[in-house]
Amino acid sequence: MNLINLQQTLKFPIQLKGVGVHSGKDSILNIKPGPINSGIIFVRTDLEGRPEILGHYSKIVNTQMATTLGQGRATVSTVEHVLAALQGLGVDNALIEVDGPEIPIMDGSSHPFCEAILDAGLETQRATRAKLILTRKVEVKIGEKWAAAGPSERLEIQGSIEWDHPAIGHQDFHYIEGKTSFTELSRARTFGFLKEVEMLKQMGLARGGSLENAVVLNEAKILNPEGLRFADEFVRHKVLDALGDFKLAGYALQAHFRLHRAGHDLHCQLLNEIFKDPNNFEIMDSVTAEEKVRPAAALRPVAAGGNGGWAAAL
Ligand SMILES: [Zn+2]
Repeated sequence: MNLINLQQTLKFPIQLKGVGVHSGKDSILNIKPGPINSGIIFVRTDLEGRPEILGHYSKIVNTQMATTLGQGRATVSTVEHVLAALQGLGVDNALIEVDGPEIPIMDGSSHPFCEAILDAGLETQRATRAKLILTRKVEVKIGEKWAAAGPSERLEIQGSIEWDHPAIGHQDFHYIEGKTSFTELSRARTFGFLKEVEMLKQMGLARGGSLENAVVLNEAKILNPEGLRFADEFVRHKVLDALGDFKLAGYALQAHFRLHRAGHDLHCQLLNEIFKDPNNFEIMDSVTAEEKVRPAAALRPVAAGGNGGWAAAL
């Protein structure tokens, strides 16, 4: 995070190659710098006309197994781990090109994306971040599972899980922006149960799933020979998923999220619930650095506009 909270993008484009966890097909991912206020935009380079899909919660079309975005006929799935890397590293604007329907799973974590972005370096842009400040509590529930958000001084995500499995049990993890090491958190891998993986494979899914890109458990233990990266890797990964999904808010976030046994469906519902009522939040608008230092006389009134009738003279 920079001091005056300016927008950031990548200094240079990066390229990653990997397998799609569900299709089992290899794809190439390019992450390129994006202009001020462009946000995160996915591009399906394999489809005619190279359709764009906005990285926004309103474009979520499926939350089973992964977060899938769709716009028109184009979809892109498993967006959460690359989005978590962008969220955790404070990247506001980026163009994500992929030549298939899935973002490659890499090692099942956000770490490969994170490393590649850090290698390219971040570029500070001459505009401040638009920030959503939550002003009251918002909550969604599905049976035993729930997700809530309340006011805070910064972005915090507190996750907890409860799994009746000897290797998992009860775990919780509290991410605090600016305090928790994101590069460390980014290493937490996705996980699945052997039974489910086999069932998914029979359904034609999880074709690319392996011990190389997930922690896999049978009824008694973890099957990966290397074991876990953290004793609480499971809940850490859940928090990482939430960081990625919440990037789809389209704003930097100032809120304290509490998630219990939540997943992509609840993350999506919570975002919808927050935006449903404008009394839930305030938006601190983006202003370009030039506008900030320009005297008030440089501003002119406009007939219509969301900024109290004033807009910057450009
Ligand atoms: Zn995940």
